[in-house]
Formats: sequence, C-alpha cells, structure tokens
Amino acid sequence: MLSIENLHARVESREILKGLQLEVKPGEVHAIMGPNGAGKSTLGNVLSGRDGYEITEGSVQFEGRDLLALEPEERAALGVFLAFQYPVEIPGVNNTYFLRTALNAQRQAQGKPALDSVEFLKLVREKIKVLHLPDTLLARGVNEGFSGGEKKRNEIFQLAVLEPKLAILDETDSGLDIDALKAVADGVNALRSPDRSFIVITHYQRLLDYIKPDVVHVLADGRIVETGGPELALELEAHGYAWIKDRIGPTA
Ligand code: ADP
Ligand code: MG
Ligand code: MG
Repeated sequence: MLSIENLHARVESREILKGLQLEVKPGEVHAIMGPNGAGKSTLGNVLSGRDGYEITEGSVQFEGRDLLALEPEERAALGVFLAFQYPVEIPGVNNTYFLRTALNAQRQAQGKPALDSVEFLKLVREKIKVLHLPDTLLARGVNEGFSGGEKKRNEIFQLAVLEPKLAILDETDSGLDIDALKAVADGVNALRSPDRSFIVITHYQRLLDYIKPDVVHVLADGRIVETGGPELALELEAHGYAWIKDRIGPTA
C-alpha cells in the first residue's frame, strides 16, 4: 500500500529525513516512535504535502502511484488521510458542512455521486453513534474553541466519515489527557479493517496500551533505526531512547 524508499527531506536547507525506509501493507497498524526532534512530524508533513519541505532523494509510492508528485487534495482524494490536514480552526464554518464538502470532493474524485445534506446527516449520525462521540461536535464551528482532546475526537470523527485507506495520525508531543488518548485509540480500533492501514506517530508508549500495533518502528535522526512488534514499545518504555542511541550512529 505505502512504500517509502530512501527518503531524504530538508527544512530550511537542513536535512531532517536521512534515508527513511518504510513499508505498510493493507490492514496494518504501524506505530512510529522516537525521541523529540527525530523527524516524526516532518515525515507526516512530507506525506501530507505540506509546504516548506524539500525532498532531495528517494520516493514514496501509494498503491503504485508517486505520492510526492500529487497535490495534498489529490492525496486526500486517493484515500490518504492526514489528521493535521484538517486541524485548523475555521470559526463560523459548521463542522458538518465542512466535512460534507471534504467528503464530496473525495467522492467526486472517485467518480461517485455527491451526498445531499439529508444523506450526509444520516451517515454522520451513524458514525457519531458507533464512535460514542458527543453530537454537539456537529453544530460547532470547525475546531472552534475546541480543547486538545476535542480536536482529537474531531479528528477521529473526520477519519470515520472520510473512510481513508491510509490514515496518518501525529499525536504530537504535547500532553493529551488520558480521555483524549482513549478516544483516539477507540476510534482507531473501531475503524481498523483488512483494507485500511494506520500510521500512528507517537512520542509516548502509553497510547500503544490501547492501540495494539502490528509493527513498531523507532525513528531517530531521520531514519528508522529499529523495527519490531509491540514488545519494542515496551522495551523503549523500560529503557528510554538512550537505549537505542548506539544504533543511531555518530551523527546523533
Ligand atoms: P519530532 O516530531 O520527531 O519531534 P520534527 O519532525 O518536528 O520532530 O522536527 C525534526 C527537526 O526538524 C527538529 O530539529 C525541528 O526543529 C526541525 N524542524 C521541523 N520543522 C521545521 C520547520 N518548519 N522549520 C525549521 N525547523 C523545523
Ligand atoms: Mg517534536
Ligand atoms: Mg512531532
């Protein structure tokens, strides 16, 4: 599904990703962990097509297509969901309206008919129920005045409505409270399916108490330096990132 080969990326002429390799198959949940400043968010941003990143080497294929050649909207239309594509506050724009626009853009790109507001509302009510989300989310402005936890819930809601093939969630290093973590985990678990993959980027092991990843990677100094099963996350929890330092090489 996703194949990243020897990816090198720069930010403001500084190399941040230094030959990153990653292979994600359909249905798999991959966790990417790593110390602060390792390049985790940079990876997410590069995959989303954010401005400000220069790819100097390597390739990213999504279902056989050159992802890096596509505009962010085209990536979304193909079924790549990046949580931070939609975290912005859009005061005055109703969440439901915003999501319907996003979904219909995606459907149009896939040659499917648009949903009218009645059909969309029906869909949204089902999702809200399955995910046990408060339906007050619907009427509010996009992320307007949302707490960190509410933004995370909204992210999961967006994910459920857009039903991407590949979802990339960057939990950022800022402390999410345990309820927000659980909401993210419950959402991911509810949306797991044999043809949907997840990349969950996280600095902390505790999220992985609730989401059982198939594969855990350690990203350090711009590369994947270790790959294993869920037990790798526990080893990191026990020993810290210093434990992995000797694998990073002299540049770290
Ligand atoms: P992580 O998410 O693993 O903590 P980041 O990808 O956010 O790491 O950052 C990796 C490195 O790239 C850091 O040293 C950070 O300061 C730098 N960096 C990331 N984005 C930018 C940017 N937009 N401008 C300047 N430096 C950046
Ligand atoms: Mg950071
Ligand atoms: Mg980060």
